[in-house]
Amino acid sequence: MQCEPILAQSKPIITNRNMINTMNNVPCPVCGRPTEHQIDGRCKECFLKTVTLAHIPLVVRTTFCSMCGAVKRGKHWEYQKFEVDDLIQGVIEQALKIDSQATDISTSIALSNSNPVIYRAHITVTGEIKGVKAESQLNTEVRITKETCDACSRMAGGYYEAVVQIRAEGRFPDEDEQQQMVKLVDEVVERQYQRGDRFSFITSAQELPEGTDIYLGSNSCARQACRLAVERFGCKYSESPTLSGKKDGKDIYRITYSLRLPRLVPGDIIRVGEDFVLVNRSAKMTTGLYLESGLEFSEHTDRLKDAKKVADVDEAENAIVVSVEQDTVQVMHPSTFKQVTIKKPAHFTGTGGEEVKVILTEDSIFILPS
Ligand SMILES: [Zn+2]
Ligand SMILES: [Zn+2]
Repeated sequence: MQCEPILAQSKPIITNRNMINTMNNVPCPVCGRPTEHQIDGRCKECFLKTVTLAHIPLVVRTTFCSMCGAVKRGKHWEYQKFEVDDLIQGVIEQALKIDSQATDISTSIALSNSNPVIYRAHITVTGEIKGVKAESQLNTEVRITKETCDACSRMAGGYYEAVVQIRAEGRFPDEDEQQQMVKLVDEVVERQYQRGDRFSFITSAQELPEGTDIYLGSNSCARQACRLAVERFGCKYSESPTLSGKKDGKDIYRITYSLRLPRLVPGDIIRVGEDFVLVNRSAKMTTGLYLESGLEFSEHTDRLKDAKKVADVDEAENAIVVSVEQDTVQVMHPSTFKQVTIKKPAHFTGTGGEEVKVILTEDSIFILPS
């Protein structure tokens, strides 16, 4: 009873195996070779003949700015931070046309150049199309045209959109302060350029008795520099536009930023009435220390219009403390070497014999906090 069904089952199994064998031997309709898997009704080799994984024109042209390396795409120039080889690779990758059905694509490019404006490239592209591995070996020549980009020609022509005037409130900014501010503008210009603002450049800088004027290619750059100066140095600024011409029927303005450093800066020693004050901070309020007593000082900056700067902490000299009493300190004057008795300031905790920083005024000597 059990044998029959087994026999009956074994027949179709044999038939099935025969069918597979027949499938394996189906000849390719194109070349006639027997083929296991057909793709689009032909063998692998014949299928590969019908597809092109990748192609590229024999000559690819590109335009670079000879001054900044920007690359021209269509009518526009684009900022480039890459080396020439990377630029050429990018140009090739853009010119390369790869079959849209291809997957798992990888490209390698070998560059050689005998001439700074002509590069030869050998390109190998591998990938899969409909599960069949395909490869393309291509050659092209990249020809570089050098031009001067819009930004570089503007810079060379002295073009500017904005002027930042570095000044100080009620005084002339010193050399150091001006250098710090120029550095700050430079920092913003560099950062914006790296971010792709190709007009972020300094056209020129002019030193004047009252400060420095910096001419900039980009207005947004100038404004950002001013904002950073407010944040970092407590500066104030105002802007005023001047009509500089017309472009495509529109008025073109140049903006002048009057950037003012605060009148008082940390480290200033000012005279307020009869007192000498070391400034620690000056914004809306000015805070610091009374040098004689060492007590804290705080006043609205607006009310300090008559306060005069008399010295700077950088001018401090070294002096030896000879002895210390309850409320007084004897200090050896650094230039006359005479002992001078002064009130003990609150911040002084020495016991005698130590070296301290002192500020000398016409008729006084003050110990600075350490
Ligand atoms: Zn074939
Ligand atoms: Zn350029």
